[in-house]
Amino acid sequence: MTEFSLELNEDHVQIQKWVHDFAENVMRPAAHEWDEREETPWPIIEEAAKIGLYSFDFVANAFGDPTGLMMVLVNEELSWGDAGIALAIFGSSLAVAGIFSNGTPEQHAEWIPQCFGTPDDIKLAAFGVSEPDAGSDVSSLKTRAVYDEAKDEWVLNGTKTWITNGGLANTHVIVASVEPGLGSRGHASFVIPEGTPGISQGQKFKKMGIRASHTAEVVLEDCRVPGRCLLGGKEKLDERLARAREGKRTSSQAAMATFEASRPAVGAQAVGIARAAYEYALDYAKERKQFKRAIIENQAIAFKLADMKVRTDAARLLCWRAAWMAAHRKKFEAGEGSQSKLFAGETAVWVTEQAIQILGGYGYIREYPVERWHRDAKIYTIFEGTSEIQRLVIARAISGLHIE
Ligand SMILES: Cc1cc2nc3c(=O)[nH]c(=O)nc-3n(C[C@H](O)[C@H](O)[C@H](O)COP(=O)(O)OP(=O)(O)OC[C@H]3O[C@@H](n4cnc5c(N)ncnc54)[C@H](O)[C@@H]3O)c2cc1C
Repeated sequence: MTEFSLELNEDHVQIQKWVHDFAENVMRPAAHEWDEREETPWPIIEEAAKIGLYSFDFVANAFGDPTGLMMVLVNEELSWGDAGIALAIFGSSLAVAGIFSNGTPEQHAEWIPQCFGTPDDIKLAAFGVSEPDAGSDVSSLKTRAVYDEAKDEWVLNGTKTWITNGGLANTHVIVASVEPGLGSRGHASFVIPEGTPGISQGQKFKKMGIRASHTAEVVLEDCRVPGRCLLGGKEKLDERLARAREGKRTSSQAAMATFEASRPAVGAQAVGIARAAYEYALDYAKERKQFKRAIIENQAIAFKLADMKVRTDAARLLCWRAAWMAAHRKKFEAGEGSQSKLFAGETAVWVTEQAIQILGGYGYIREYPVERWHRDAKIYTIFEGTSEIQRLVIARAISGLHIE
């Protein structure tokens, strides 16, 4: 076990600089264009694949960092470059996390590399849980998966919504109900491999922010996949369902802990946006003169910047703590994963709003990046668990009570 340390090792510093250079030189100059186009930035993903940043090996190494810090460092730098493009690059990792947390080692080896493809043949992946009537309340999923024993196939029907890379992806990981009476304990995850009939894209959403990231409905109509696409396998599912029917604790509840463990990386993305806005506003406040002096010489502006810095650094520390705890399999006794995502998301919204105020009219127009950062920041209080749901997780953890 590595001691918790705020001193980054050589690998961290090197990778952080490498990702930062990509963010600064490739992502930043392209950010405005892809925000306006609201399309997947293929040329940037291709660049990322060419240098190995969009690849199975890179994600596997970052996940495998024993300190846990590599993923949060990389996520912060990419989102500092541009959060929408960052999600276009890292959206496939959501599906990877789904396969990794539910699949067998054989399934990891078969499906995870297919989420990325190769630089000459790039693939994308998507992870679909949310539905029109099941967002925060995941237990009410309507998508059904029914087993056709004669053919050893699963048949999926339903509609997923707001899916990052949905329909565009080559591989989809879909969470469906196999026994609706058991709520979330009757769920299972399925890989829908490339070229499977019966899966299609519904409407593509136009969004407030992270507009370079594709978000769409995914429709499943008698979508048949072989038995081996059930993550974890049939035997394990049958055992789990039997335990759930008897009212015993199941691994699906334990899987919630895995989900909690991915939150520091999402929080780090929000930290990246907050840092971008803080740095930009600081430079601007030193340059911009009104009443014959730099606006930063007014305490009202300087104190705003002081608070922006403090909150951004505090958010980063919460993400680092939770990432370190997750890597060391330390139990989140007080919802530390949720704490990091909650605080970082709300910090990004607050810091980017302050940055707009500091830039005045220039903060409000599209020629400057600050209004985009504010639009991008807002998603971090909504997806991967809303701020209210994070508070619920923390409140339950600290009270030991089932707070509603
Ligand atoms: C851009 C984008 C990308 C996304 N990507 C994906 C993806 O790749 N895969 C995927 O599966 N999903 C994805 N989502 C879906 C996202 O995770 C959901 O939007 C989110 O979980 C919230 O669900 P909801 O929108 O249905 O809101 P609801 O659950 O309807 O919540 C509405 C409001 O009620 C509050 N609320 C609900 N229940 C409670 C409660 N018990 N206590 C207090 N307040 C409560 C919520 O906090 C929120 O403020 C994405 C969404 C967006 C917008």
